[in-house]
Amino acid sequence: MDKDSGARNSSGFNTLSYTPNGAAYSNWVEIDLQAIENNIRRLRAQARTQVMAVLKANGYGHGAVPVAQAALRAGAAWCGVARLEEALELRRAGLDCPILILGYTPTGRYAEAIAAGISLAAWDDSQVQAAVQAAGRVGGAARLHLKVDTGMSRLGTQPEGALHVARAMAAAPRVIFEGLFTHFARADEPASASAEQQLGQFRQVLAGIEAAGLRPPLVHAANSAAIFCRPEASFDLVRAGIAMYGLHPSPDCRLPPGFRPALAWKAVLSQVKTLPPGRGVSYGHEYVTRAVERIGTLPVGYADGYRRQTSNQVLIHGARAPVVGRVCMDQVLVQLDGLPEAREGDEAVLIGRQGEARLPAEELGARWGTVNYEVVCGISPRVPRVYLGEEG
Ligand SMILES: *Cc1c(COP(=O)(O)O)cnc(C)c1O
Repeated sequence: MDKDSGARNSSGFNTLSYTPNGAAYSNWVEIDLQAIENNIRRLRAQARTQVMAVLKANGYGHGAVPVAQAALRAGAAWCGVARLEEALELRRAGLDCPILILGYTPTGRYAEAIAAGISLAAWDDSQVQAAVQAAGRVGGAARLHLKVDTGMSRLGTQPEGALHVARAMAAAPRVIFEGLFTHFARADEPASASAEQQLGQFRQVLAGIEAAGLRPPLVHAANSAAIFCRPEASFDLVRAGIAMYGLHPSPDCRLPPGFRPALAWKAVLSQVKTLPPGRGVSYGHEYVTRAVERIGTLPVGYADGYRRQTSNQVLIHGARAPVVGRVCMDQVLVQLDGLPEAREGDEAVLIGRQGEARLPAEELGARWGTVNYEVVCGISPRVPRVYLGEEG
């Protein structure tokens, strides 16, 4: 994470200003932590149960530690990650909240997780035995969440085997049977019967475990889409990723009004030039000027996560400018004929708002043939993250 306090606190990063005077970076991401707090409060009100802030992949590209801190300030009860390394990063930053690794953890590293008080997902006997041994070695207790595969076909015990593993977890020494969970494959498609079927399977597993007197304290199933589109799946805890960042779960499962996207991606116009007709622009000369044209350069490229794709657009002076020619590793070219006022040093917006204009991550996802999730996760670590609203 960038610790340059001058850049972090600079009022030059005013989202309404088109010219970030003295901008410290070529291109950068701004994260509005008050938007994260706002979104967590709205998620808590919507779900009426505990909220887990899902922070895998460096907080969906937003920066896991500052987002986690903001989420906890706003009342999130848990942090969720995909990997042990991500959980340890949060601990190293001083976060002492409950943390669950939602995905696979190599059994050889259970001891590290247990020593750091990190909860693990598990789904078979050999994992329970590994947890017992690791907990014995570090002199602690392993906190386990039993993962049931009700239809995602990715991770977890099949429903028929769930009661058996639940009994093993409940009976094992040095093991706390802390949770029971599943994950939906199609919660973002309100018209699909799939989530309904998965929920039915999960309820059946839960009923069996309850009948055996083994219900763990935390039953959870809902991701962001399910929080809005399957509110009956909220149970004891909901796992919110994309919605916490203010991004829509899918075109068919959109956030209600009041959620705010936390991330903006910006670049400085590094050069503006006027070219004669017939000049080739960028590698391969795929674009050739048709007349006298103004062409600008932005210091952002595919190595930053800006896809090498035609039909990109950016916002400059609150209007759209087309990206022309091939996207290079570190730079792109934009056509400025519609923007005679554009000058070197002006701010271009790749994702976010500029005045009244908006260019959401969802639009970039559609242009790139992917989803908003992949767009924000794909912004490279070399792009500095600047945090706004930390005093919040
Ligand atoms: C990523 C993930 C989530 C969060 O999903 P969103 O759609 O971003 O809310 C929840 N649960 C599990 C198991 C996940 O892997």
